[in-house]
Amino acid sequence: MSVSQLIEEAYTGLKSLVIGLGVTGKALTQPGVTVLYPMEEVARDNLASFRGHVELVGKDEDPAVPKCVACGACVKACPSDCITILCPIPAKEGEAGGEVKMGPAPQKGSKTPGAVYVDFSLCSLCGQCAKTCPVDSLKFSDNPYMVRFDRKEFRIDLLARLKRLAKEDGE
Ligand code: SF4
Ligand code: SF4
Repeated sequence: MSVSQLIEEAYTGLKSLVIGLGVTGKALTQPGVTVLYPMEEVARDNLASFRGHVELVGKDEDPAVPKCVACGACVKACPSDCITILCPIPAKEGEAGGEVKMGPAPQKGSKTPGAVYVDFSLCSLCGQCAKTCPVDSLKFSDNPYMVRFDRKEFRIDLLARLKRLAKEDGE
């Protein structure tokens, strides 16, 4: 290798080192985007585009009651089979009234769900359910700290969650 080639190679190496240090220096002076969880938590206003598990949207006039009309469209749209919506099964003619039986939505005459569950351990966060809902009753939650020891604990009772959040917001 000639002297001029060596000088050229050294120049190129030095140049890329300076450029790399410039990038590192610039990043060092920027505000941090990561936090030392669990000692710190991210600010909630930084989560506008975050997709947590799916959750129900309450009615404007009564936030504890979902907008959901129990049509079952989200259940059909979900590619991962992680949504369960149950409604009361109407009693047949002549059938004695007793314990109310529940069946998968939709059920004739039922416009309100009796139970709504999502299994977050199966969810791919594709958004098909929220996109399909005709009354905008599903959205993504903004909880980035959903940590569990048991897979079964990712099955979330969305009606109970909606009621709890509405109560907390009202306090
Ligand atoms: S986001 Fe996708 S995978 Fe998750 S519940 Fe909705 S449709 Fe199913
Ligand atoms: S698509 Fe919307 S309205 Fe229909 S069952 Fe699902 S959440 Fe309820």
